[in-house]
Amino acid sequence: MSENKVIVANKGMVRADFDFWVGLYMDKFYDNFEKKKIIGNKCQKCGDVFVPPRKICGKCNVVIPLEENWVDLPDTGILKNYTITPYRVNDRTSRKAKPQVLGMVQIDGSNTAIIYRLLNIKPEEVKTGMKVKIEWSEKPKGDPSDIKGFVKI
Ligand SMILES: [Zn+2]
Repeated sequence: MSENKVIVANKGMVRADFDFWVGLYMDKFYDNFEKKKIIGNKCQKCGDVFVPPRKICGKCNVVIPLEENWVDLPDTGILKNYTITPYRVNDRTSRKAKPQVLGMVQIDGSNTAIIYRLLNIKPEEVKTGMKVKIEWSEKPKGDPSDIKGFVKI
């Protein structure tokens, strides 16, 4: 007598719940948004300051310890570059009635840049090198949307 193996295969969906997590460095960064504060972290070797914070300095290949080298920074910066687009940032299929200006802003005292909308600035007024300031949301909750954008100063 031969033994028959019975193999059962079930086809279907596997449900898995995920919580998106940005990591310990970004957690600390966003936690400070609740206080309307910008922090960066500094490479102990070359002195570069990162906003958003990084775990490793790409230039020196040195790990920046999580509990060290944090620096308080102002909520002002310099517009390094920009683009003007009629498309929404999170949905490229829907156009906005008015073109919006997206800027790459280097926070004063940092060596990197973050990208946010430029508010109340007409496309023809935008210039690289202009001074800008963060427009915080009224009730910050510790996430990227706490920064509404940057305004001209
Ligand atoms: Zn470095």
